[in-house]
Amino acid sequence: MQYVSTRNATYRVSSMEAIKLGISMDGGLFVPEEIPSLPIEKLMPLLQSSYQERAVEILKLFLTDYAPEDLKFCTDQAYRSDNFSSPRIAPVKNLGSGLHVQELWHGPTAAFKDMALQILPLFLTMAIEKTGENSQILILAATSGDTGKAALEGFKDVPGTRILVFYPQEGVSALQRLQMITQEGGNLKVSGVYGNFDDTQSGVKGIFTDPVLKQELAQKGYRFSSANSINWGRLVPQIVYYYSAYLDLLQQGSIELGEEINVVVPTGNFGNILAAYYAKKMGLPLHKLICASNDNHVLTDFIRTGIYDRRRQFVPTLSPSMDILISSNLERLLFELAGRDDAQVVHWMHELTEHGVYGLEGEALEQLVSLFWGGYATEDETRRAIRNTYETRGYTLDPHTAVGMHVYDRYKEETGDERQTLLISTASPFKFPKDVLLAITAGGPNNREETDLLVELAKVSSTDMPAPLLGLKDKEVLHREVCGKDEMRQAVMSFINAKEE
Ligand SMILES: *Cc1c(COP(=O)(O)O)cnc(C)c1O
Repeated sequence: MQYVSTRNATYRVSSMEAIKLGISMDGGLFVPEEIPSLPIEKLMPLLQSSYQERAVEILKLFLTDYAPEDLKFCTDQAYRSDNFSSPRIAPVKNLGSGLHVQELWHGPTAAFKDMALQILPLFLTMAIEKTGENSQILILAATSGDTGKAALEGFKDVPGTRILVFYPQEGVSALQRLQMITQEGGNLKVSGVYGNFDDTQSGVKGIFTDPVLKQELAQKGYRFSSANSINWGRLVPQIVYYYSAYLDLLQQGSIELGEEINVVVPTGNFGNILAAYYAKKMGLPLHKLICASNDNHVLTDFIRTGIYDRRRQFVPTLSPSMDILISSNLERLLFELAGRDDAQVVHWMHELTEHGVYGLEGEALEQLVSLFWGGYATEDETRRAIRNTYETRGYTLDPHTAVGMHVYDRYKEETGDERQTLLISTASPFKFPKDVLLAITAGGPNNREETDLLVELAKVSSTDMPAPLLGLKDKEVLHREVCGKDEMRQAVMSFINAKEE
């Protein structure tokens, strides 16, 4: 299987190349030349199998230049039991009345990014080895909160790689920041950026596609790659958990073979829900792909009208990892909706950069509307979803998943669709202890360090707190830099020029 750029479908690379490059130099994203088919019936022998075994079956369809035993090595290594607190890796829990929640936050950083970022470094080091790459790989990541920490954990001290993470100074929660600025490891650096996530992400994309900088780095023996979901190596592991959830639901007797289910995905950069789209295209019986947004509801409006309009105020919310106005991965969907017409994608992306808006019409729009349903939750609605779910279902949601819960309720109200539904839970509530406690306890906590609130939340929710968050408050702060959004290039160069510690 070869990969093509969404902005130049004649530019073809292998999966190893696509993973090493991260993004195409024309600014496009790599997509598989064709989407393979995998009817669920074919996976029935894996009904009793582990997550790792299921993963290999799916990954091998896409990563065809990796040997299956190498993929097995990667999945065993990434999803090992000292890395994930649940042996099921991505367990599905029945919340009753047709709703099931898949918890994707049992990894080392307590958010769903671990599902991909624990395995991406393995794909990458293997690609470096097998392709005889002799440059060092410099991973750059922009984070809306969770990618940064997950990427740092994944790439920490991985030979042949160095990693630099930029996070928006105004964007991430206190605990998310603390997780990053206390990160240990000899090959990495973390820097704040004065700005929001979109500024940070545009900065990183600009660096990636800057030929001069690329040249300078090459002279120093480096090439760039990306740990953001623009990298295909991050997308593909996410397809796995949709298949795995379906098999779990079958195994639990919640659905019949072939029965269509809905999925609700708290969405930011459109990576997670795009993986659901690919799964559906491959033949997984998914009905509606329900895209949940917060007050930054560009995507809701897009799905309802076909017009993508980023010309609006960026709003910091309780669900910071979804505070995004430019959803990068949408480009991959556009490529499919346009019938793989790269020129059309280039046109839309040009409109977006030049005018901040573009619109779909005709067949592309019809497809968008039939595949997706979009909704959003305000801040109050998010808090209410946390409280209601806690009170009525005895389950504690983080603010991102709560956005999904609210949108799920609206979807049922508006459509009357009672199908079995999978709600994707993207973060542990323990990553946002203050906001969660405020939502579920009257009056709420006051004037205390977020790390102290973890204990209180554990009591109130009667759930165990993720071990990695436990020791955070005693850790030393190692990364204090913050740069302007125009200084990110310099930050890259000074990182490269600094001796590896
Ligand atoms: C990254 C993230 C999201 C958004 O996921 P996308 O793939 O960017 O749409 C939602 N919730 C949490 C907790 C996240 O970390």
